[in-house]
Amino acid sequence: MEGPARPCAHCRRGTALRKYCRRCSPKASALYKRELRQEAKASGEKYWLEWWEKAHGDQAVEKRREYQRKYMRAYRRRKREKRAA
Ligand SMILES: [Zn+2]
Repeated sequence: MEGPARPCAHCRRGTALRKYCRRCSPKASALYKRELRQEAKASGEKYWLEWWEKAHGDQAVEKRREYQRKYMRAYRRRKREKRAA
């Protein structure tokens, strides 16, 4: 069933056990979800809309934008603090 050793689908350095190498395997489900999100984003699909509409109704798009702004601000702050430390 298995052919010759394939590189890890994520880091491309390790040898894949199935799809990912030993180091990336624990992250497999997160990586898979990220892959789905990236595909959805590339095709312009609002995969997140249904979930956000459940929580916020008509304001879903606006609320998500706000969330992402906050998230990125916090992310940049963490990065800055890390650099300064
Ligand atoms: Zn890997």
